[in-house]
Amino acid sequence: MQIHTEGLVIRESSVGESDRLVTLLTREEGVVRAFARKAKTLRSRQASSTQLLCYSRLTLYKGRDKYMINDAHPIEVFFDLRGDLERLSLAQYFCELAGFFAPEAAPAGDFLRLILNALHFLTRRTRPLPLLKAVVEMRLLALAGYMPNLVCCRECACYEADRMLFFPWRGELCCASCWENRRGEGLQPGEPVCPLGKGTLTGLRHTVYADLDKLFAFRLPEAGLRELEQVSEQYLLHTAGRGFQTLEFYRQMELAGMRGVPAERENEGYHGETENVSRKVLESPGTGQDPGASGGENRLP
Ligand SMILES: [Zn+2]
Repeated sequence: MQIHTEGLVIRESSVGESDRLVTLLTREEGVVRAFARKAKTLRSRQASSTQLLCYSRLTLYKGRDKYMINDAHPIEVFFDLRGDLERLSLAQYFCELAGFFAPEAAPAGDFLRLILNALHFLTRRTRPLPLLKAVVEMRLLALAGYMPNLVCCRECACYEADRMLFFPWRGELCCASCWENRRGEGLQPGEPVCPLGKGTLTGLRHTVYADLDKLFAFRLPEAGLRELEQVSEQYLLHTAGRGFQTLEFYRQMELAGMRGVPAERENEGYHGETENVSRKVLESPGTGQDPGASGGENRLP
């Protein structure tokens, strides 16, 4: 059976002298492992379109127990990231997360769109890395069915309070006064409790509840970004129940002092942006043109 779809290469490995086994995040079939014959020979068009971080229009043959790539035309390649280890390592982390959380043998258009948008902003350098990381982590979890309850305090149902706390092991909020009354009650040994600034809470809600086309369009000061990134990572790791090698590698890049967060001038919390930046991203399969060049009117899938 032939399948036509778009897909991003989220993992690749060599098989024999000239073949390649790739893991794809596809719009129609979710996460797919597929063989690309002769993908390493120089003249093959599949040579570039089956490399890591290449987004291609694909013709797949679905056999009884495996997929073959029959044809592949690159739509967008994110190879620029290879010149920047820190950004590359974050991109690889996003790919590993997608491979873990996106469904197999089921449509995964929103997962694909999320990762493509994140790679776009990583390449363009227009968003701080902790923001990209937190958005991808939280939204992937929400798409995969692990939606936290960020609407209100779990005890008194207030939407906002002077201080709100987040429980990353259970994906719930509690206001400070309810917490004072029931301190420690029901907590597991070692369970973290994370106080959130108002801006951070608004940012965290944005990562889960905002429309996909406005998802990356907000700002936080650096302290808020750090807070956001920490709680999203704790929620993700606890939900996944495992660590990720690519995250470890990204952390090593950070320790090596290779990481730079652009300083935000604003010192007050969250800023939503009215400009709908992310509509300009990538999203019109079939045209093959630079997604940024069409004036932001690309149809979203
Ligand atoms: Zn409360």
